[in-house]
Amino acid sequence: SNNRPTNAILAPNFKFEDMGIGGLDNEFAAIFRRAFSSRILPPGLVERLGINHVKGILLFGPPGTGKTLMARQIGGMLNAREPKVVNGPEILNKFVGQSEENIRKLFADAEKEQKEKGDESGLHIIIFDELDAICKQRGTTGGGTGVGDSVVNQLLSKMDGVDQLNNVLIIGMTNRMDMIDEALLRPGRLEVHIEVSLPDESGRLQILNIHTSKMRSNGVMGDDVDLAELAARTKNFSGAELNGLVKSATSFATNRHIKVGTVAAYDNLDNLKITRSDFLHALDEVQPAFGVNEEELQ
Ligand code: ATP
Repeated sequence: SNNRPTNAILAPNFKFEDMGIGGLDNEFAAIFRRAFSSRILPPGLVERLGINHVKGILLFGPPGTGKTLMARQIGGMLNAREPKVVNGPEILNKFVGQSEENIRKLFADAEKEQKEKGDESGLHIIIFDELDAICKQRGTTGGGTGVGDSVVNQLLSKMDGVDQLNNVLIIGMTNRMDMIDEALLRPGRLEVHIEVSLPDESGRLQILNIHTSKMRSNGVMGDDVDLAELAARTKNFSGAELNGLVKSATSFATNRHIKVGTVAAYDNLDNLKITRSDFLHALDEVQPAFGVNEEELQ
């Protein structure tokens, strides 16, 4: 019927709980409302409203906070093709015209399907990591190389060309929002900007739960480990650093089982337990790289 959404829609077996991403519920909710809600309206209503779908999202924030995880999940949430994932430095090529050609190729499949199937085309997602790398340097001493100019222009022309296409969603990512060419951020381009910041205490607890779920359900976690305590003691840790903390604690635990007189063989791993003290040792070893605030440095 005319009420059936023909564009992207939440994948039938999609469950938010299965995402394995902690502490980003507000960010997901914002993305959903701002970038997807129009795509699941009945097409007739979209026409009556006279609106265009959002074609581009920019995720920005410090490294290791889950931007890449999120971008990939967005593809899984929607009935989209396997996303194309590229990163800025990989697009750049020293041969004249080759970088622009790389950008052009990214859009080729979506353009072809749109031509063949029109509104029945599936959604194509393009994930652009380290987007700042293709933008010319601004505000740095000595000025920029300007190398990125024509590459950015090519990307802009593709994005604007997508105007007629409703089947493309671009997800850009960067740790350097200040480096992104403003032309890329305008309405109709990467117009929805979502900040992915370091997790707060409850986010850290969710992330620690995710990264210890196997060891907890397999009885390898010591009874004395209190994840809430660890969440409280890991201010400024990113998701990636919390993952590193769990790995470090595990390495302290397995190290107790090294066979005497060897460096590479374990003994008796049956009773392996990762204990609170392993996590405390790990806390000495794994430090947050970002967001350490001034009071703590004084
Ligand atoms: P970068 O800017 O360095 O590319 P990013 O923000 O894209 O970083 P990811 O690559 O998504 O970060 O995260 C790296 C790893 O850290 C993930 O594979 C995951 O193991 C862990 N991680 C980061 N954030 C989260 C999170 N919010 N929930 C669960 N795991 C996380």
